[in-house]
Amino acid sequence: MSTQDGLPPLRDIIRDLGLTARKSLGQNFLLDFNLTRRIARAAEPLEGATIVEVGPGPGGLTRALLMEGASRVIAIEKDERCLPALADIAAAYPGRLEIVAGDARAVDFGALDVRNPARIVANLPYSVGTPLLIGWLKTEPWPPWFDRLVLMFQREVALRIVAKPGSKDFGRLAVISQWRTDPRILLTLPAAAFTPRPKVDSSLVELVPKEAPQPACDVSALERVTAAAFGQRRKMLRSSLRQITPDTEELLQGLGIDPKRRAEELQIGDFCRIARALGG
Ligand code: SAM
Repeated sequence: MSTQDGLPPLRDIIRDLGLTARKSLGQNFLLDFNLTRRIARAAEPLEGATIVEVGPGPGGLTRALLMEGASRVIAIEKDERCLPALADIAAAYPGRLEIVAGDARAVDFGALDVRNPARIVANLPYSVGTPLLIGWLKTEPWPPWFDRLVLMFQREVALRIVAKPGSKDFGRLAVISQWRTDPRILLTLPAAAFTPRPKVDSSLVELVPKEAPQPACDVSALERVTAAAFGQRRKMLRSSLRQITPDTEELLQGLGIDPKRRAEELQIGDFCRIARALGG
């Protein structure tokens, strides 16, 4: 069977490499090039851009990114069984694909050899998708080295990223995502689009960094505040925040925030103002 880029079909590669999907590595592959090309096009313009991809697996999305014109792709993959397939793609696109073998959680993304513009595009493994996103959102200095994140998450995580105050999904992930970026869901794929089929649907999320997130505050202080506030989300703020500061009533009243309110009732700016008042 022929393919659009002359490389073998993904199903053949997976079979030949004995690439039985590992749940521990969140391996749910996208084998349909129409879908991977759609994801790649969501990251346009690709000409002149460096794309950092986490978890290329057998290379479906990697090939789509290169076919759609990405000048350079840096692909970070933990599963060594995938490396021969990625080496074949690198040979088919000379000088355009760099493979980093290892765990993306241990990668210093700021130290990668990227040329601007740079963006991160990935069909993320379920297990590490959220910690990786939080790491990227905590990048210092801000604005970061990437101009956009285009990431596939399980739908439930995507909904938490874009959730608004007052909704059940509103929490730490919404606060840090919407403070530093403008996130939106681009498309939703049914579980059946992936091989093997996971239990849940997935959504592609775009996060565009804000030049100067407002109100300004220290990102680590903001994290401490949201961890305390949402860690006990049913409690009133005057008690949930007590684990990070003793005089919560005074602090909240001084900011014009009712101490009896709960975390999910606050606006994103309120959390930043609390973080600032705590010295961050
Ligand atoms: N990009 C491929 C696709 O769309 O078909 C594969 C996506 S699959 C959901 C996630 C990929 O991430 C797998 O290839 C898995 O081996 C890899 N992976 C899992 N944990 C990883 C980690 N900590 N660092 C780097 N890659 C990881």
